[in-house]
Amino acid sequence: MIQSILSNLAIILLGHLTMSTLMSFREHFSKRQISLCIILLFSGVIIAMFYLPIQFGSYRLDLRLIPLIFLALLRGWKITLPVLTIVSFWRFFMGGDGAIPGIIFGMILPTLFTLSFYKPDKARSHLIGRMILISVCWFISDFPIIFILPNGLEIFMDIFWIRYLSFLGTAVIFYLFILLEHKREALKQQLEFLACHDPLTKLLNKNKFTQLVEESLLEVNKTHSISMIDIDHFKQLNDKYGHIAGDQVLMMLARIFKKYENENIKIARYGGEEFILYQRTACFEEAKKLIEEIQNEIRTTLFKIDKNQSIKVSVSIGLAEIEKNTKLEEAIKLADRNLYKAKENGRNQLVVL
Ligand code: GH3
Ligand code: MG
Ligand code: MG
Repeated sequence: MIQSILSNLAIILLGHLTMSTLMSFREHFSKRQISLCIILLFSGVIIAMFYLPIQFGSYRLDLRLIPLIFLALLRGWKITLPVLTIVSFWRFFMGGDGAIPGIIFGMILPTLFTLSFYKPDKARSHLIGRMILISVCWFISDFPIIFILPNGLEIFMDIFWIRYLSFLGTAVIFYLFILLEHKREALKQQLEFLACHDPLTKLLNKNKFTQLVEESLLEVNKTHSISMIDIDHFKQLNDKYGHIAGDQVLMMLARIFKKYENENIKIARYGGEEFILYQRTACFEEAKKLIEEIQNEIRTTLFKIDKNQSIKVSVSIGLAEIEKNTKLEEAIKLADRNLYKAKENGRNQLVVL
């Protein structure tokens, strides 16, 4: 009996391992392909359990409901209902006395009950909450035995402990594996974000920016331009209000830039209090108009550096077009030169030459 419980657990964990592997390669597949793979994988896992029942005296049990519960909780009805349909038909055609109650009470009702708790954005919840839900599912699945079988109460009492403990134990182990996987996935996403973004402003870093711009430059029928943006007298601001206030200004400025970011506009922190902005526009005039608009917004924004203190900040900007068949660095050099002219001319202005 222990062997058959372990074999059910092994099938579930093998399914989990396959699922984790699949998810780590998900960028190579479409959403539809991934959904199809999950449906086939979970159907396979549950069907495999039909053929490896837990033999307890003359009773045959299995843990088919556990993958269904977690599928319903974490993936919702779109994936769960096809799996439920496939495995229900499979079980039906396998036949036997217990087929129909096994399908209705052992799969359909507890799965539909679990689906009512599905929240797309809240996949995780407390272990205790999960255990209560799993216990209720076990109850929906096993309690009808009392009424369906002639000596139902006796059978229910006979299998109660082994059934409930193996069910709950397997569910806890499966849940912990899923939690570990979520943690690993969150760390991976964090790492990917940090590799491409500046930690303070959360804007793109120079490397990612260059990569995105170079891809965008392949669009030859558009005008491409670069703006170098530098905060005026930022050192004085740091000296007067402190570096924390300086950091706050950088973050608030980044929030303004972020509003403008889209597939044609990319912004990165170039270093210190300097930013770089790329635009793909229909003409150069359009690029000039937009950068003027951004500069104006910065000029008129009140930057809150303290509970009851706000200050004004200005930026100097050098704009340059990325000429056809020239490198991005050439345009950066040109925009840089224009930026220094803006500084020389008294700051708080845009220079385009
Ligand atoms: P200008 O108008 O000529 O650009 O003068 P500036 O003071 O802005 O330029 P400068 O290059 O003299 O000083 C830049 C300052 O930016 C110095 C440095 O301490 C500050 N800085 C760079 N990175 C950060 C940061 O992440 N946080 C804070 N608070 N300050 C920073
Ligand atoms: Mg500066
Ligand atoms: Mg500077």
